Amino acid sequence: MSDVTGRQREYLAPGVSTYYTDPLVLTRGDGRRVTDDMGRSYLDFFGGILTVSIGHAHPAVTAAVSEQAARLVHTSTLYVTEPMVDLAERLAAITPGKLKKSFFTTSGTEANETAITMAQLATGNQEVVTLRHSYSGRSQVGMGLTGQANWKLAGSGMSLPIRQAHNAYCYRCPFQKTPDTCGLECAKDLDDFIRTSTSGRLAAFLAEPIQGVGGFITPPPAFFQETVAIARKYGALFIDDEVQTGFGRTGKAFGIDHYGVHPDLMTFAKGLANGLPIGATIATDEVANAYQGPTISTFGGNPLSMRAALATLDVMERENLTEAARIRGNQLRQGLEDLSDRFPILGDVRGKGLMQGLEIVLKDKKPAPDLAAELLEEAQKRGLLVGKGGLYGNVIRIAPPLTVTANEVTEALEVLGETLQSLYGTHSELAAVPSTRIQYQD
Ligand code: PMP
Repeated sequence: MSDVTGRQREYLAPGVSTYYTDPLVLTRGDGRRVTDDMGRSYLDFFGGILTVSIGHAHPAVTAAVSEQAARLVHTSTLYVTEPMVDLAERLAAITPGKLKKSFFTTSGTEANETAITMAQLATGNQEVVTLRHSYSGRSQVGMGLTGQANWKLAGSGMSLPIRQAHNAYCYRCPFQKTPDTCGLECAKDLDDFIRTSTSGRLAAFLAEPIQGVGGFITPPPAFFQETVAIARKYGALFIDDEVQTGFGRTGKAFGIDHYGVHPDLMTFAKGLANGLPIGATIATDEVANAYQGPTISTFGGNPLSMRAALATLDVMERENLTEAARIRGNQLRQGLEDLSDRFPILGDVRGKGLMQGLEIVLKDKKPAPDLAAELLEEAQKRGLLVGKGGLYGNVIRIAPPLTVTANEVTEALEVLGETLQSLYGTHSELAAVPSTRIQYQD
């Protein structure tokens, strides 16, 4: 155990939880690789939890942030700075539909809180519907929006007027249907759900196009057309949480672009500023104008994060990283499907672009969180960082920076193959697990 980990245990609250039995102490990042305090190098296929969208220590971001730091670090939202206006204008240009006015914060949690407040002010309604298996943040409202018990600590947020409807979890369909013949029962259920579990006067329907922390659960193509139309009948504005799926990650500009729906509000964070703290809520003119203040965030829109985001978006555009994510995503997906043919404990391979999940299961799709944890540790020992998630803790999440190369994808797939082989070597019972993979419509 390093000195840093020892001091971490003494001085950091245990709520600051980390991966790995011997926590990783990172000291450097460069492109898709990070180095720990023992000098070991790792291929980062979780992108620092999807925050370093264009790779670690990208020179364009470093230059923009250094230049800004030497000039003006921070005032507050009481004064205007040009980078904040520049980024707002840029977001209006690249987001779909009539989304136009932005509100900046420093995290995705605050971005979602802002979106909820805006929707409540714009509609005059209070109630919100989100989806099971969702994740929206760890404040009281964030936990209230979240559809997973393990994030609702001590029942936080439970008393808020927020309810969770069915998501489209095709691998574990609550209606025992398959995606090709289901008739989208999960989406249609929303109508009855709203009529039985709310007052029928909604402020918002908030959802992630692909559920991130929930385990990269990916709905079928018509899911959002169906659910958003139902929610709007009851007055709801549609808040699209793009914190994980935004800015090219899924092979399209935004996750919701796969679903042909225009949101009334969108929220962003994580990769937008390539690692600097940022949150953003963008809304139509009408919705944004309903929120006349006061502003909620001292550091929201700070010029360092704004410049980092502008530089990140420049690189994404210049290097056409959305298309790169689609191409590298296909390579990754193909490789993962090949692995799941060899290793049936990979019960489900799902996601889009460079956001791919592997559900680790035993016989009869029994979730295998211990195996997933072992896989995470074993991959790290072999020099590969991946993520974990899902309500049952049995989903491996793979999301490298969008700048990842073909060789790096091949390298990661090789390490995953070796890791799985070693698990099969130490757990003989795994050989008897039958394949349970399902086919998705796309
Ligand atoms: N929404 C989604 C979809 C997220 O994945 C997260 C973070 N995991 C958040 C909101 C909250 O963002 P933050 O941690 O920046 O507050």
